[in-house]
Amino acid sequence: MLIDVHSHLTFKAFEKDLDEVIERAKNAGVVAILCSGVDHESNVKVLELSKKQSIIKSSLGIYPLDAVGLGHYDDVPRETRAIDVDAEIEFIRKNKDNIISIGEIGLDKSPEEPKLKEQEEVFWKAIKLAEEIKKPIVVHTRKAEKECIEILESSKIKNVVLHCFTGNLKLVKKAEDLNFYLSIPTIITRLKHFQEVVEKISLNNILTETDAPYLSHIKGERSEPSHIKETIKIIAQIKKITEEEAENIIFSNYQKIFLKK
Ligand SMILES: [Zn+2]
Repeated sequence: MLIDVHSHLTFKAFEKDLDEVIERAKNAGVVAILCSGVDHESNVKVLELSKKQSIIKSSLGIYPLDAVGLGHYDDVPRETRAIDVDAEIEFIRKNKDNIISIGEIGLDKSPEEPKLKEQEEVFWKAIKLAEEIKKPIVVHTRKAEKECIEILESSKIKNVVLHCFTGNLKLVKKAEDLNFYLSIPTIITRLKHFQEVVEKISLNNILTETDAPYLSHIKGERSEPSHIKETIKIIAQIKKITEEEAENIIFSNYQKIFLKK
């Protein structure tokens, strides 16, 4: 009953062996893999993949840096042309019955000049769409954790997953108070921050993710959904429960946020 709420299986890193990767996930006990698009090309691929493989759930996104022409998620050098945001919003709306959530969306202040105002406009458009079509959102918050939480708090949106949230523990607590979910990547095995997050918040606010192919529990390696078990082991240790209990609660969290009608 393992869940991966955030991955990018349509990225180049999985081009050669995607079927094996999905097979390994199933064998490891993974029952749902949310695949996040970041731009039009990947959104189209995510939809196609979810039609072929029932374990794959579509999450269509507008990556904050791509949205304003500041680079690309997979770091492949390419023309940094901004996404046509309004067209992509329309595309997501049109596909609302084929998707489980919207994301990843959010803010990213890692560039020196992040065009934050523009990013915020895009983020708001995506949030409004999520409210309109009643979907949860998966949020990217790199170096803009506080700004993201402020915007989310001032919106009406309730079903929020903060993916790979590296904000300080005060913000972590704040997110929990707002009843958001924090999805914990497998890098928790070697990153104390996420161990502290798990210590700090209730298991009722925790989900698991890989962000595959990124954030592997083994430095320098590609991550994949079959690795989710590594996170469950650590969560069980920290919360002093069995792995099975941890799995069950996280599965029920997944149902609550993504499958409720
Ligand atoms: Zn991601």
